[in-house]
Amino acid sequence: MTSRHPKGLAILFFTEMWERFSFYGMRAILVLYLTKETMGANPGLGWSNTDALALYGWYTMLVYVMSIPGGYVADRLLGQKKTVFIGGMFIALGQLTLAIDNMVAFYTGLALIITGVGGLKPNISTMVGGLYKQGDSRRDSGFTIFYIGINIGAASAPLLVGYVGEVYGWHYGFGLAGIGMLLGQIVYIWGQKYLKDVGNLLPVKKTEGKKEHTPLTKIEKDRIIVLLISFLIVIVFWGAYEQAGGLMNLYTKAKINRVVLGWEIPTSLFQSVPAFFVIILGTAVASFWAKRQLKGKEASSLFKMAIGTFIMGFGFLMMSGAALEAATGVKAMLIWLIASYLLQVIGELSISPVALSFITKLAPAKYASIMMGIYFAATGLGNKLAGLVGELASNAGELEVFTGIAVFCFAFGALLLVFFKKLKVLTHNAEAITN
Ligand code: GLN
Repeated sequence: MTSRHPKGLAILFFTEMWERFSFYGMRAILVLYLTKETMGANPGLGWSNTDALALYGWYTMLVYVMSIPGGYVADRLLGQKKTVFIGGMFIALGQLTLAIDNMVAFYTGLALIITGVGGLKPNISTMVGGLYKQGDSRRDSGFTIFYIGINIGAASAPLLVGYVGEVYGWHYGFGLAGIGMLLGQIVYIWGQKYLKDVGNLLPVKKTEGKKEHTPLTKIEKDRIIVLLISFLIVIVFWGAYEQAGGLMNLYTKAKINRVVLGWEIPTSLFQSVPAFFVIILGTAVASFWAKRQLKGKEASSLFKMAIGTFIMGFGFLMMSGAALEAATGVKAMLIWLIASYLLQVIGELSISPVALSFITKLAPAKYASIMMGIYFAATGLGNKLAGLVGELASNAGELEVFTGIAVFCFAFGALLLVFFKKLKVLTHNAEAITN
């Protein structure tokens, strides 16, 4: 972790930090705006909870699914660098459109943001990978730093945009999210001099037209299988993790004792807790794995991801603890919630930056963005899954849902470890050349 990183990392760090500020800021007030009554001060749209959560589920899925066309455009037409810029413009325009109080503007704004995130999010991540040559050992720590940037944006946005949106008016909140994205664009334009060698459209090889169906080599096949397995892991992982904005959020409001030293902490504030944990623990978790690897112990990407899934399971056991306590008729202790988020984030740090890094390591250069696009689409499916699982709680009960998620994570993690011998061969083949 000691050697210096390329300057381009700082540019991508701040651009993505502002993009995430804009994204999570808007996301923090979206459901509140939809469900607020249409009368009175700072009126909303007066939707039912169910309708609002349904729109939220589709929105959070689509933003990530659009990463597939976003990746395709980058690989085939524009290169990542230009696609990121155009995506950023769409996002800023979308947020500013939401600042207008009108239903046509509302849907247009959402569509613009969905398109824009699809162009920006996967491609900026691929560009981080592009800063490092194959075999450069700084790649993983580069992604850890980048991931911390993401979470500085994610931690501050619900506080700032949430406050402005709830106190001054929803549309000011959306406008602030738009300004955040414009600041990101300014950093990006200013920093182009540090990004000369990354994100450019790759020239198409002459032979390609003739030999379209060159069979994949053994290593390439292994790489694709490893990537597909990791996509499956992220669907499960985000399906659990994204309860934070939905079911866990509602649960915190209703059943957790939020009074500390006589002050009742507002529920929305807890939305920033996981991102704060990422900022604090990002480097520690990464160096834990790095040290393990130096000692020659197992620390391949899939192994980390399997362990991350397990830790996630423990995170949800904490919520089962809260639900058991709440079942006795009292409000559950806050420590359950905090411990749950802490464990979830340790799991996240063993999965999410790891996956970003190794996609840029394993995917063939000409498919780099589309592979990243598919990865984010998988996280989008995870978001949708999270919504569906969260909805189960109203019939099945929270204890059952939290415990169910924990058991599923344990079982899935165990399955991965049982088959690990086979996976190990695959991962080692796949990672052999570049690592
Ligand atoms: N929290 C991370 C981010 O906002 C991961 C999101 C994801 O992979 N779906 O970038």
